[in-house]
Amino acid sequence: MTVSISPSESFETDTLPHLAGLNGPQREAVECLDGPVLMLAGAGTGKTRTLTSRIVHLLYRQKAFPWEILAVTFTNKAAREMRGRVGAFLGDSSEQLRWMGTFHSICARILRRHAELAGLTPEFTILDKQDQQRLLKQLIDAEGLDNSKYPPRVIAAIIDGWKNRGWSFESVPIRENHEFKGLGTKLYRDYQGRLETLNAVDFGDLILKVVEVLKNNPDILEEYQNRFKYINVDEYQDTNTVQYLWLRLLTQAHANICCVGDDDQSIYGWRGADIQNILRFQEHFPNAKVFKLEQNYRSTGNILGAANGLIARNANRLGKSLWTNVPQGQPVRIYGHFSGKDEAVWIGDEIESMLRIGVDGRKFQPSEIAILVRASFLTRVIEDRFLLIGLPYNIVAGLRFYQRKEIKDAVAYFRLALSKSDSMAFERIANVPKRGVGPKAMQIIKKTAFENGISLPEAVESILREGKLRNPAAQNLRILLMRLSVWSAVVRDSGVSATDAAMQILDESGMTAALQEENTLEAESRLENLKELVTVIADFDNLTSFVEHISLMSDNEIEEDKTKVSIMTIHAAKGLEFPVIFLPGWEEEIFPSKRSLEASERFADLALEEERRLAYVGITRAKEICSISFASHREIYGRLEYRSESRFLRELPRAHVDMRSPSALHAPIFDFGNSASEDSIGGETFRAPGYLRMVEKLGRKQNSGIRLPKSAESRRGPYKAGDLVVHSRFGRGKVLGVNGDKCSVQFDGNNFKNVLASYLSVGD
Ligand code: ATP
Ligand code: MG
Repeated sequence: MTVSISPSESFETDTLPHLAGLNGPQREAVECLDGPVLMLAGAGTGKTRTLTSRIVHLLYRQKAFPWEILAVTFTNKAAREMRGRVGAFLGDSSEQLRWMGTFHSICARILRRHAELAGLTPEFTILDKQDQQRLLKQLIDAEGLDNSKYPPRVIAAIIDGWKNRGWSFESVPIRENHEFKGLGTKLYRDYQGRLETLNAVDFGDLILKVVEVLKNNPDILEEYQNRFKYINVDEYQDTNTVQYLWLRLLTQAHANICCVGDDDQSIYGWRGADIQNILRFQEHFPNAKVFKLEQNYRSTGNILGAANGLIARNANRLGKSLWTNVPQGQPVRIYGHFSGKDEAVWIGDEIESMLRIGVDGRKFQPSEIAILVRASFLTRVIEDRFLLIGLPYNIVAGLRFYQRKEIKDAVAYFRLALSKSDSMAFERIANVPKRGVGPKAMQIIKKTAFENGISLPEAVESILREGKLRNPAAQNLRILLMRLSVWSAVVRDSGVSATDAAMQILDESGMTAALQEENTLEAESRLENLKELVTVIADFDNLTSFVEHISLMSDNEIEEDKTKVSIMTIHAAKGLEFPVIFLPGWEEEIFPSKRSLEASERFADLALEEERRLAYVGITRAKEICSISFASHREIYGRLEYRSESRFLRELPRAHVDMRSPSALHAPIFDFGNSASEDSIGGETFRAPGYLRMVEKLGRKQNSGIRLPKSAESRRGPYKAGDLVVHSRFGRGKVLGVNGDKCSVQFDGNNFKNVLASYLSVGD
């Protein structure tokens, strides 16, 4: 083992760098290496940090080789970060921590090694949500069922739910038969059948199939039990049953498992996470040692106080006391706005001021600021505003980029190069760019494939042999198949880099040329995206690992950029921390969500409590400044709706919050007078109608939203490339291109920006 630190006589544990700075309980947890260990502690108490130190300590004590340590993190980014932190102590040997990743990425690797035992070949494809639903839709249609009564999305969720509980279609209990009038299990069976023919799996299968392989093959199970000598799991509160079953199988031999988590941060119940996994850890793993960490190192006193007060409202929790040494800091600020647009304007202004002027002498970097939303639709107004004022931001939803059409097309080509029988990929690109393969030709290909039990590319081969297709489709498909063979060799050639292989495929497929020929702004931006794709691929050793990477990307993945403010959902922010946090949209039916309120009526308060935990997660991401806001009106599905503020606002302890109006009014708008209860904002002075009237008046005064420069109102676009324009902020410029309501403009001083057309006026 080439671990760069080793236990030497001269190293007293006190001076070990990876133990330095840990507090008593953290250190005890690090040093308790054998047997089951649970670290159950609140937000920001150093669970992840302790887990990381523990991994270093395992290596330092030579308990295991790096490749014998299994470390499960919540996102691939968290895995990279953990590897980085371990790397700080271990140098290069952190690279040898091969089994560090998400449940999905680790199980995908295991499944590829034993694919044939799961009825697959090692090149199996991992379907994303859309592919999964498209497949289900085909099955629903084939049954002659009505799509609106049997929505693929709902059926997909039910099947996922069963997989999360570890049920294959044979083992779904009879009591579940009511789902879709008994058709649920049939659809599940048919769906699995289709997946098998396609040599494909969905996300749920990755873990379920591994559990089945291990259960059915004791020798393989033993191999992994021996391999993973120490198992470490972060965010354990959000594991589901099948994940638990997997961990349990692996630990049967040695029980060296360390899980860390916080029952107050369990926020994936809706996706099958079972909080009982963490609550019953000691039952599941007898003789487990439990460590509780109580010191929060992340947040100021006020932020922690506000979060603690809120979560105390939940009945179903273990209850913990958290404290911090960090000074009280600013109270958590709560701002009410007239509209969602006003809220976005305010957030933009606040951020600009934090970047330029700072707060109490401290200037912030964009990367230190994050906006966390309950629902992703809330990001649009914020994006529009940031675009307008030229504030660089990063929407943290890796999927968005990878879900663009051209990117999915490109990836389908890569998938085909890696596996010539990938029918779904083939169907996607058979006619992209246009090859004259219309719906009729596709029908013939599919029919042949279905009748002979072969893949679509194989069907094409057979059809071409028999001359059943006419030109130009036949000729073009022949060329495509030939190219596929060439690419298949290219991607397997270790002398060709991933980027070169990708560029060759994109060029030879005709995708690049077709977009170039189109010569529209839209095509140009698609080409840009393909370029960006190639840039991303440069970070990978080969196309196989790139395709695996994006197949496993979940909507929580984060692309980092230090020069930008981050916008993401609260779910995606789990485990992260930022000096400044904005939490917009705290309104009833958004946060708590409408669905949770409806569910709470039926199942007591369980769903509502999960929302409250989510609010707790949101607030506890903040280190220094936390601002919560809401609007009394918001555009929802294109209509301006009247909103009332979230009940969670009233539950925040008043000692730690400061409720203010938008910046126009410099005084608190609430009198937290005597009638408010002792420790929360509730009470009679918090009366929505009066408040809303006040905000409404203010809104009118402010003209609710973004104002146009005067000159622009009379002389606005539409614009075309070459037009001279003026922007209230960036000055004069020339339009380079137009894409919907956005214009790319070159402003004076070679300053390129994408701005909304409505904020430009005609220049001279
Ligand atoms: P979450 O519940 O949000 O996942 P966590 O319990 O995993 O939080 P960490 O992210 O590990 O907490 O730590 C929170 C912050 O506190 C980090 O910035 C970490 O570096 C810091 N921290 C943790 N332990 C200590 C310590 N003993 N001394 C100083 N800083 C610490
Ligand atoms: Mg953590």
